[in-house]
Amino acid sequence: MEIKGIREEIERLKAERGALVLAHNYQRAEVQEVADYVGDSLDMARFAAESDARVLVVAGVRFMAEVAKILSPEKTVLMPVPDAGCPLADSITPEELRELKGAHPKAKTVVYINTYASLKALADAVVTSRNAAELISSLDAEEVIFVPDKNLGEFVRGRVNKKLVLWKGFCYVHSDYTVQEVRKARQEHPGALVVVHPEVPPEVQREADYVLSTGGMVKLAAESPATEFVIGTEYGLVERLRREFPQKRFWPLGAPRFCQDMKKIGLQEIYRSLKELLYPVELAPEVASGAKRALEAMLKLKAQAKP
Ligand code: 13P
Ligand code: SF4
Repeated sequence: MEIKGIREEIERLKAERGALVLAHNYQRAEVQEVADYVGDSLDMARFAAESDARVLVVAGVRFMAEVAKILSPEKTVLMPVPDAGCPLADSITPEELRELKGAHPKAKTVVYINTYASLKALADAVVTSRNAAELISSLDAEEVIFVPDKNLGEFVRGRVNKKLVLWKGFCYVHSDYTVQEVRKARQEHPGALVVVHPEVPPEVQREADYVLSTGGMVKLAAESPATEFVIGTEYGLVERLRREFPQKRFWPLGAPRFCQDMKKIGLQEIYRSLKELLYPVELAPEVASGAKRALEAMLKLKAQAKP
């Protein structure tokens, strides 16, 4: 089917099914264009919790679809590509987290949203990069286990007055940014703000002007008087910023980085998902209820980080 035809079919099927398409900022441009909502992982979770659609198609990776199902169990939640995963989420097993908890019995446990439901079910709270420091600060504990991203963990460590126990996980898309890339970008674009995601290494965070979630980057681009930005995160976000703020200029930090799992989804996959109701997310009830408790601890947090 040609592009125009497939877009029309997607719209027709959305109406017929009572479905909405929810996309992450790293999704391909053509997927973002057919989405009813595009955002970061925190806004996707909130959207899923609040929407009254019968069917949600989650154009993102597995943990994002799981979060939507956990917060809206009555809805049919579909993953257009069932093996769109996240290697960071795979970097710790529930057994490994149980061991860590056993070694730190007084600590509270906080997990990044980039984890599977079975890990969330073992946590006191879930966080995204946008609210991690606020939530961890608010906990009634001196010691906090935070898994799995070590770079986000270091970012939080610099902002809270707690003893943090971290894990060794990292995101391959973000972990190989270098200080040299920031310095080169500053030479090439001297007036630009350098903005990086907290999954980049701490020494790169220290060289940047802002360390923000993808949603924080969109907000900054909208509200800042600056007109040039160097962006240290996955290329899909750079493309979104260029589309939405054509009067401003955006460059990727170093070579463009791509999350292979995010890029597995295209228009054909969205169309097929809507047409055949593929692939529904199902979770064991005890895992879903434990993960929901930890997600709700995050969603009820009043103060959410500003950019
Ligand atoms: P955001 O919450 O900033 O969208 O990040 C999600 C993610 O997977 C980063 O790699
Ligand atoms: Fe996971 Fe990294 Fe892809 Fe984000 S960019 S979904 S952390 S692999």
